[in-house]
Amino acid sequence: MHLWRGSTMRGGPVKLIAVVGGAIMGGFFTLSLATSISIQAFQAVVEFKKKKTAPPCAVCKGKGLIDCRLCRGNAVIDWNPLYDPVVTNPCLCPTCDGKRIQRCLNCAGRGYA
Ligand SMILES: [Zn+2]
Ligand SMILES: [Zn+2]
Repeated sequence: MHLWRGSTMRGGPVKLIAVVGGAIMGGFFTLSLATSISIQAFQAVVEFKKKKTAPPCAVCKGKGLIDCRLCRGNAVIDWNPLYDPVVTNPCLCPTCDGKRIQRCLNCAGRGYA
């Protein structure tokens, strides 16, 4: 009876500390993992809600693309190197490469501000 009690007293606390310590360590790991996952999920939800609720970009009206500002949608610009009205060279627009559109600078092409 006496011997049995003594052995449990000796082995009990050490085993308990190991179990609790392991649970705490595992808990921290699980917590940090869960936190990073929940933060990512939270950010995804925020971004999704923002996309859903944010008013469309006023500049591009939600398209994410705007008419090229340099050529104003003409695909070419009148390049005049000599500032001489007689010598004007129509050049392919360097900003849009003749596509006539460029990514909206206001919303970075996302379509919402
Ligand atoms: Zn825009
Ligand atoms: Zn252009």
